[in-house]
Amino acid sequence: MEDCIFCRIVRGEIPCFKVYEDERVLAFEDINPISDGHTLVIPKAHAESLWEISEDDLAAVHVASKKIGQAISEALAATGVACLQLNGRGANQVVMHYHLHLIPRISGAPPLPVSNWELKAGDMARIKSVAEKITAAMR
Ligand code: 5GP
Ligand code: ZN
Repeated sequence: MEDCIFCRIVRGEIPCFKVYEDERVLAFEDINPISDGHTLVIPKAHAESLWEISEDDLAAVHVASKKIGQAISEALAATGVACLQLNGRGANQVVMHYHLHLIPRISGAPPLPVSNWELKAGDMARIKSVAEKITAAMR
């Protein structure tokens, strides 16, 4: 896609700190890292979101992420790696080209808000009715 910033990185028009590449996948460091080693794993072919990416590219991104995440973990002695993927502006997706964030957690780092929510028991009747709604919409 002409103006897509990540397509431009794939084409080499914008530089990046590449950590991995194969025929379908590119992985590079985020320029606004939440932590050292914050890495973005993307399909080379443009797709906006989880609903648009091809199943082959989706599999390739996630299989590559397994390898990349393990390397990040080893290189940085991470205590864990959060995999975060946003779909749609309402979910705070800013770059509209599918990407999986790999965010290493380093000992002593402040909590990652998105993985640190307070557990509050839900209303079982509401949970059941929402589950039924989702099931009914399944194609
Ligand atoms: P989103 O909110 O869409 O999941 O996150 C997009 C991510 O892309 C952000 O973390 C942002 O820092 C990163 N980003 C935006 N533009 C560039 C860029 O030109 N190069 C790199 N390496 N990362 C970028
Ligand atoms: Zn793109």
